[in-house]
Amino acid sequence: MDAEVNFSSHPSHKLQFIRDQRKSLHDVIVSLIKGQNIEAESIKEINRGIRSATGILQVKEDSGALSMEWSFDQEDPVAFLHPIYQSLEKLLSNGAGNRIKECGECRWLFWEQTKSNTRKWCDMRYCGSRKKAREYYRRKRESETG
Ligand SMILES: [Zn+2]
Repeated sequence: MDAEVNFSSHPSHKLQFIRDQRKSLHDVIVSLIKGQNIEAESIKEINRGIRSATGILQVKEDSGALSMEWSFDQEDPVAFLHPIYQSLEKLLSNGAGNRIKECGECRWLFWEQTKSNTRKWCDMRYCGSRKKAREYYRRKRESETG
C-alpha cells in the first residue's frame, strides 16, 4: 500500500496537489487514447488522489423516489476531485476511451459525440474558430505573396 497523502492544510499545497492530479489524469487518458504505455507513476498519483478525495454515499429522496448520491465536503478543495474520479470510473468501466479526444488546438480532452467521430476541437466557438481563422489568414498571405 502506498503512503497516504500527507499535505499540510495550507491551501497552496492542496492547489499543487490538485494540479498534479490534473496532470496525471491528463497523461493517463492521453496515453490511453493514443495507445501508448501508461506511466505507473501517474496511476500511483491518481490513486493517491482517490484516497484523498473521499465522499460519502447518501440516500436522496426526490418526489417520493429514492436514489443514491455521493456527497462531499464543500469546504475542502481536494474533495472537488471526487466527481472527476467518478467520471473516470464511468469512462474506464464503459470502455468509452475511444470517444475521448484531445483538442487539436488547446490540448484539453473532450467527449466526442458526433456520429461521424470526426470532431477535432473541444469547442468550435473557441478552438475551432481560432484554428480556422489562422488557416484563413495563412492562405490569404500565401495567395498575396505567391
Ligand atoms: Zn480546445
